[in-house]
Amino acid sequence: MADTTHIEWTDATWNPITGCSIVDAGCTNCYAMQLAGTRLRNHPSRAGLTRVSGGRPKWTGEVRFNEQWLDQPLRWTRPRMIFVCAHGDLFHEAVPDEWIDQVFAIMADCPQHTFQVLTKRPERMASYLTTRRAGKSLQPPIGGGLLGYHPFNSEILPPRNIWIGTSISDQASADLRIPHLLATPAAVRFLSAEPLLGPVDLRAVDPGIACGAWCKGGCGVSGDNECGRESPSLDWVIVGGESGPGARPMHPDWARSLRDQCVAAGVPFFFKQWGEWESVYDRDRDDPDWRNVPKAGDRYRKRWLNLAGGQGFHGDKLNMMKRIGKRAAGRLLDGRTWDQMPGVRDG
Ligand code: SF4
Repeated sequence: MADTTHIEWTDATWNPITGCSIVDAGCTNCYAMQLAGTRLRNHPSRAGLTRVSGGRPKWTGEVRFNEQWLDQPLRWTRPRMIFVCAHGDLFHEAVPDEWIDQVFAIMADCPQHTFQVLTKRPERMASYLTTRRAGKSLQPPIGGGLLGYHPFNSEILPPRNIWIGTSISDQASADLRIPHLLATPAAVRFLSAEPLLGPVDLRAVDPGIACGAWCKGGCGVSGDNECGRESPSLDWVIVGGESGPGARPMHPDWARSLRDQCVAAGVPFFFKQWGEWESVYDRDRDDPDWRNVPKAGDRYRKRWLNLAGGQGFHGDKLNMMKRIGKRAAGRLLDGRTWDQMPGVRDG
C-alpha cells in the first residue's frame, strides 16, 4: 500500500486485492510475486500467497481481500493517479465479483482521483463491465455506511475517472487481449507493453469482437461507424523493458516501432524505461560491413538479440545488449523522454 511509487506513469498504488497466478511469459519475473515471497512474506496481505518452487517464490493462486486498505483513496485528499491492484490482478479468476464491486464503488466515490485498472485478464474485465449490475449486488459498505450506496450501471460508461488497461508483452498477447480491451466500455483504454519481449504490430490486431460486445446498434461490423459512434480505440500506450533479477532485454526496435505506430495514429505514448539492458552495438547501424563484431562473452552481462526476439548471433537487426542496470539504462528513447498521457499530447 503506497501513497507514493517509483512507477513513472502513476502517483500511488492501491492494493485492496493481493495475490495472483502466472498467466504467460510476461509474468515470469513478476515483481509483485517476488516481493510477496521475500520481503513481505510475513505481512498479512501476502503471507501464504506464494510458495518456493525452483528456488524462487511462485504465486499459489490464492488471492486476498485487504479490507483494511479499501477506503484509503477516500482518505487521500490530494488528487492523484492511482494504479489499482499493482500487486495482483483485480480480475483474477479467484476474485469474487463482490470484491470487484467494492473496489469499483470506492473508485466511483473518489472523482478527485484517476484510477488506472490494469489486468492480464481483460476477458473477465469486459464481461464484468458489460454484464455486471453492481447496483443489485453490492455488499453493505464496510465501516457501516462510510461508502454509501453506489449503483453501477454497466449500460453507461464506468465513471470517467476510471481508466481501463491490459498488459501485453508480444504479438500473441496483443492479439489475444486487445480485442477484449476494446470491447470494454471505458472513457480511457490503455495498453501496457511491459515487459516488452517481442515485436508488436498494433495494426495487425483484429479488433473482431469490439462492436458486438457492447454496441447496442446491432450493425455488428467492427470498425464501422454507421451507428454514429466512434469505433473503440486505444487512448494510451506504455512501453517498458524488464527490470530486476533475471530481467530480459528489450530490442530497441520493438520500442521504436510502438512509438512510431502511436505517433502515426495520434495516440499518446509513454516510454517507461529500458530495464536492465541497453543496446551497445547495432550491427546494421554501427558495423554494416561486420568488421568489428564484438564478442558476447559472459551471457549474463552481454548477449545478442535479434528483431524476432532470438538470442544468439543470428537473425535480423542484431543488437548487442549489455546489462548495465535500470538506473544507468534510463528512459530516453532516441535521445528524449516520452511522457505523454491521455488528453495531454505533447508532440
Ligand atoms: S498477472 Fe500481473 S500480478 Fe499476476 S503474475 Fe502476471 S505480472 Fe504478476
